[in-house]
Amino acid sequence: MAKIQMKTPLVEMDGDEMTRVLWQMIKDELILPFVDLKSEYYDLGLKHRDETDDQVTVDASEATKKYGVAVKCATITPNAARVKEYDLKKMYKSPNGTIRAILDGTVFRAPIIVKGIEPNVKTWKKPITIARHAYGDVYKASEMKIPEAGKVELVYTKADGSEERVLVHEFDGPGVVQGQHNLTASITSFAKSCFNFALDQKQDLWFATKDTISKQYDHTFKDIFAEVYEKEYKEKFEKAGIEYFYTLIDDAVARVMKSEGGFIWACKNYDGDVMSDMLSSAFGSLAMMTSVLVSPKGYFEYEAAHGTVQRHYYKHLKGEETSTNSVATIFAWTGALRKRGELDGTKELCDFADALEKACLATIESGKMTGDLALITSLPNPIKLNSKDFILAIRENLEKDLGM
Ligand code: NAP
Ligand code: MG
Repeated sequence: MAKIQMKTPLVEMDGDEMTRVLWQMIKDELILPFVDLKSEYYDLGLKHRDETDDQVTVDASEATKKYGVAVKCATITPNAARVKEYDLKKMYKSPNGTIRAILDGTVFRAPIIVKGIEPNVKTWKKPITIARHAYGDVYKASEMKIPEAGKVELVYTKADGSEERVLVHEFDGPGVVQGQHNLTASITSFAKSCFNFALDQKQDLWFATKDTISKQYDHTFKDIFAEVYEKEYKEKFEKAGIEYFYTLIDDAVARVMKSEGGFIWACKNYDGDVMSDMLSSAFGSLAMMTSVLVSPKGYFEYEAAHGTVQRHYYKHLKGEETSTNSVATIFAWTGALRKRGELDGTKELCDFADALEKACLATIESGKMTGDLALITSLPNPIKLNSKDFILAIRENLEKDLGM
């Protein structure tokens, strides 16, 4: 078979630990034999980030703006222990945070659904994709302990020095207060990313807040979404046959539990934090969650939702066998290749991405899987494969499907 050609490169961001090991295996066994890969390679491995004072993360983000599509391996976010382990010059910020700050994007997380790994919620038949607004609210709040009686106010001092005040509470004893904020620009770009992604996926978009109680704060989120929708997306949604649905957060939660899935759920920062953990565990495994960063300008960066699987890597370094699940990382590749294909009009690339995803699912459905899935599968007598053999089993199915 002649290798599939690519017109435009995609940005490839390599990473750390066990996922870096899988990255190379995926490329060697599942990509390079089939695709004449055009990629601009950036090594975001912690050592190289340190050598470049993290400039490589900035360069990779800028390249994503240039080419529009990136695929990223999981990376270490350094903490004190990592600074010591890697003898780092400093405690660098999370690469995902840096990339998101440059691309101004929203992260969409979706489970990979496969027969044999049943969601805990019986009615869920299709993936539910969650989008978390990653700016402000309680994550950037100012807080204060109130030791004794006194008055707390919010004071807004305008540029001309004049003031506006609202009373928070007249305390007659000790308590606590918190001041939250958000930005119109940030909410607007979150809304646009969500509407764009819904169109991209041809799925309904849900959004929910507590606007009945929070008549200024949450209502602003609701209003901005409604305004952006009316102005820029209503017609496109109607044409695509999809719906924008707004409801109260408690109603949304109740409906999600009874739905069959197949939609995108946009969440405020805190709701997204909490609900994405609930969804990923209810769908089965963190190792089966994909993640894509979508910028309001239409750049896409694909990755797995899990981390670098440090515990497995240390086993690997000791020469012990690992059984690490590569599916979410493979789906990061297929997501990026399919998007590249769509943008370039190279159908063969999209077809290849479909075939590779099919091969992953077929492998699991045939009973061959990694240890994490073998523990939770409903299939009888699963065969637990090591990291490499699992990828080789996928390759076998892929070659069969491609008629090789
Ligand atoms: P992790 O890599 O997500 O792994 C946590 C545990 O989940 C693993 O020990 C393993 O459980 C299970 N697991 C996760 N992915 C798996 C897979 N593909 N196959 C099988 N099991 C899997 O989280 P971590 O070990 O706490 O974090 C390691 C590093 O990842 C940290 O330095 C963190 O900064 C980084 N991180 C990066 C990203 C990112 O780049 N997007 C996201 C999160 C974390 P068992 O050990 O029980 O088998
Ligand atoms: Mg969380």
